[in-house]
Amino acid sequence: MRIDDGARSLLADLHCHSNASDGGLSPAAVVTRAAQQGVGVLALTDHDTLAGLPQAQAATAAEGIHLISGVELSCLWHGQTIHVVGLDFDPQDVGFQRVLDGQSQVRHERAGTIDERLQKQGLPSVLGEARALAAGVPGRPHFAQALVDTGVVAGTRQAFQRYLGTGKVGDVATCWPELATVVKWIREAGGIAILAHPRRYRLTNNKLRKLVDAFHEAGGQALEVLSAGHSRQDSGYLTRLCMDNGLWASGGSDFHWPGRPWSELGRLPVLPDGPEPVWRHFRETTRGRLQGE
Ligand code: AMP
Ligand code: MN
Ligand code: MN
Ligand code: MN
Repeated sequence: MRIDDGARSLLADLHCHSNASDGGLSPAAVVTRAAQQGVGVLALTDHDTLAGLPQAQAATAAEGIHLISGVELSCLWHGQTIHVVGLDFDPQDVGFQRVLDGQSQVRHERAGTIDERLQKQGLPSVLGEARALAAGVPGRPHFAQALVDTGVVAGTRQAFQRYLGTGKVGDVATCWPELATVVKWIREAGGIAILAHPRRYRLTNNKLRKLVDAFHEAGGQALEVLSAGHSRQDSGYLTRLCMDNGLWASGGSDFHWPGRPWSELGRLPVLPDGPEPVWRHFRETTRGRLQGE
């Protein structure tokens, strides 16, 4: 999506990952790659951690790119795992840092639970391998790679299909907070709460509308209209959902690893006309930065 603000027009990518969570590049390398792809405004949105933000921020000076504070929080809605992106919050907010430290702890314990559950299926323990693959706390993609590396499965796709994907034995989700809780955390830190990749949950239109209602009621402000894996029809439908509910529109590649063209940094279609783009609601200090003040 483009940010056209006064005299400037910048390409924005408001959702991506580094190896602070389950991405393949360091935070600094993500910033460099984004700049090479023509991105002018980037939000690094690692899963449940702000650990990559200082390194990403330090790399922006050399690349002439603006960093927006970001995070992607895992949560539950009627027992289903949902992701909520937080943008433009105060990264120094002590309360937010505290709840995210709690999420890290939850992820540590969850990694142990995933390993135990896999072992109950007769698989070898791969917790050590998964930990070695992660710069931070290992998540399901690290377990998937560890299962490949130890020869249990042929590829990560098979690892998710057999053991880690939705509803499989290694899909441990009970540890996540409720949807309304994570929206509240983001709002209290001064951020904007965005429902991430709404079409990826495989919900019927009726159920998705219920999710959007619940999200809106909890204080959620925007939908990710543009995301890797969303078709034009998906984006069109989400645009209407934004309009119907007075929600703003966001977009991001959800980049994790180089060499996967469908989720390259910055590679996104134009945001459809209609809803307010989310960047118009960034804090005044952030808007000023983007305008080069
Ligand atoms: P976790 O945060 O540990 O629950 O892991 C979820 C992450 O795994 C997502 O953010 C994706 O990066 C990745 N993922 C989820 N489902 C799949 C899948 N079917 N194939 C490959 N990667 C997946
Ligand atoms: Mn991920
Ligand atoms: Mn996600
Ligand atoms: Mn993501």
